[in-house]
Amino acid sequence: MLMAPAYFCCAALALQLTRFDGGVAIVWPAGALLFSAFVAFPRRIWWALALTCLVAGAWAIALFGIGSIFTLPLALTGIAEAWGAAWLMKRLAPRFNRFQSVGETGWFLAVAGLFVPALSALAGAWLAHRAGGIPYWAAWRDWYAAHALGLVSFSPPLLMMMRARTGARLRNISRGQVLEATALLGAVVLATALTFGQNRVPLVVVPIVPMIAATLRLGRPGAVASVVILMLVGLGCSLAGYGPTTLLHIGMALKLEVLQIYFASVVLILLPLASALEARRRMVQQLRSAEALHRLLLDRTSDVMMRLGVDGTVHYASPASARLLGYHPQELTDRIAYELVHEEDLPAVVEARTRALAQPESTQTVEYRIRRKDGVTLWVESHMCALPDQAGLPGGTVTILRDATARRQMMDDLSRKAMTDPLTGLCNRRAFDNALAECMDVDRPIDRPGCLALFDLDHFKLVNDTHGHATGDRVLVLFAAVLRGTVRTGDVVARMGGEEFAVLLEGAGVEQARMVCERIRIRLAASEGHSIAGDPVHVTVSVGLAALAPEASAQDVFKAADAALYRAKESGRNRLSVAA
Ligand code: GH3
Ligand code: MG
Ligand code: MG
Repeated sequence: MLMAPAYFCCAALALQLTRFDGGVAIVWPAGALLFSAFVAFPRRIWWALALTCLVAGAWAIALFGIGSIFTLPLALTGIAEAWGAAWLMKRLAPRFNRFQSVGETGWFLAVAGLFVPALSALAGAWLAHRAGGIPYWAAWRDWYAAHALGLVSFSPPLLMMMRARTGARLRNISRGQVLEATALLGAVVLATALTFGQNRVPLVVVPIVPMIAATLRLGRPGAVASVVILMLVGLGCSLAGYGPTTLLHIGMALKLEVLQIYFASVVLILLPLASALEARRRMVQQLRSAEALHRLLLDRTSDVMMRLGVDGTVHYASPASARLLGYHPQELTDRIAYELVHEEDLPAVVEARTRALAQPESTQTVEYRIRRKDGVTLWVESHMCALPDQAGLPGGTVTILRDATARRQMMDDLSRKAMTDPLTGLCNRRAFDNALAECMDVDRPIDRPGCLALFDLDHFKLVNDTHGHATGDRVLVLFAAVLRGTVRTGDVVARMGGEEFAVLLEGAGVEQARMVCERIRIRLAASEGHSIAGDPVHVTVSVGLAALAPEASAQDVFKAADAALYRAKESGRNRLSVAA
């Protein structure tokens, strides 16, 4: 609704005040008005805007400009120019609206300051030439200058006024900000009045100083307000015969063009500045919110996050370090993180960090022990990746530490259980096989002796049958105790299954081993177990002994010991037989 009168006023004033010698208008803000409206409002109302302004424009041209059959085509050229510029801007910078980035501003200057007005001037000048008899290239130059300078100078303030949520902004500003804005914009008014209100000294640079100050302090709104003030005061004074243009001995048309070049130059200084400031302000805001999010995460998580220099110096430790490591973050800062690592695990940690620094795109994971402040050793799972410095080179690592003690304990527990006989607590067959295989390793010195003894309780079935299975279990536990109490601590003792046991006597010759096994046999025979009912139970054991011959395999030794055991059983039980 407002567009028709606004467009009419812009066009009519421009034609009335800035048309000289029957030529085209030298100042053309109407194009900027429609261009800004196209950019600010949705595409579906573009037709309505265009038609309204076409009528308003044609009317203004008919009344104050070239009234003839060329009126409508001239008005149409102006509409097409604004439409074309807005359409092109939307294609080149889809989010273009308030000069948020320097790139966006660059496209705007190319489209609105060069390409589109140069093109529309071709048509406009032809129409003016035909209608008013003005020389074609003179008309082209005036049209191009008026429309390019008009779009570049007037669009930014208009666009920002149309898009900015000024009401919401004004409600949120403090008293101090109001005072600051008033002072800065007052300075702009004063400087422009000083420059344009007299015609003795050309002080054209003076207004730029408070305008830059207003842009730096108030951002985009400051830039827009300054430009509006400059244009209103500048145009008004110049048309009234004041200001630096009066010092130029040229025609009014050229004076107004010079003035517009001046306006456009000021916009060119302030607009990219305001855009860069805005981009920086948004970046700072994003950084602040990212930092708040990180802080929240770091405060809430039980994992410790550390930032380390290339040499391992702690530059930052998150609050969780107090809980996990017992160190307050400040106590860790500037210390070398390696000091906390268990010396046995240090090489693995150093290697993982070296890998992380050498391959910045990868994350390295390593598990190691760390000493808490209270001396307790913890297992931690650590993930580390390189942190690029300003030049993009690895300037250190980010490391996350997670308590892995419980998991490590569970794993140790599981593997211990997998190797232990649950009834007697001795090793099981798997553990014994591993120990024997290790002992019979090919690297074993040839002259190192060793023996394998196999034990099988005599008539054990009878114990079960007479006293019950539970008593049988008791006897198994009793025998396990006899075994453990007789062998040396380094010897491996295992329950191989049922009532069969084995002992690996490393470093023992056959005679020595025989003495140990006899002692076991005699001790068992002499010990008295008790049934669940309290009755005494006596058991004996038969033993098969075989030496770990250097050339024999584990299987061979087992077979030999088993054969010896069989012989011991055969020859009456409760005895020891040595493999041949
Ligand atoms: P021998 O070896 O002297 O020839 O006679 P034996 O009675 O010991 O013979 P055998 O090896 O056939 O019997 C082993 C018995 O051990 C059979 C089984 O019931 C018993 N047994 C195996 N495992 C267990 C166990 O975990 N607990 C109990 N109570 N008995 C078991
Ligand atoms: Mg048996
Ligand atoms: Mg038996």
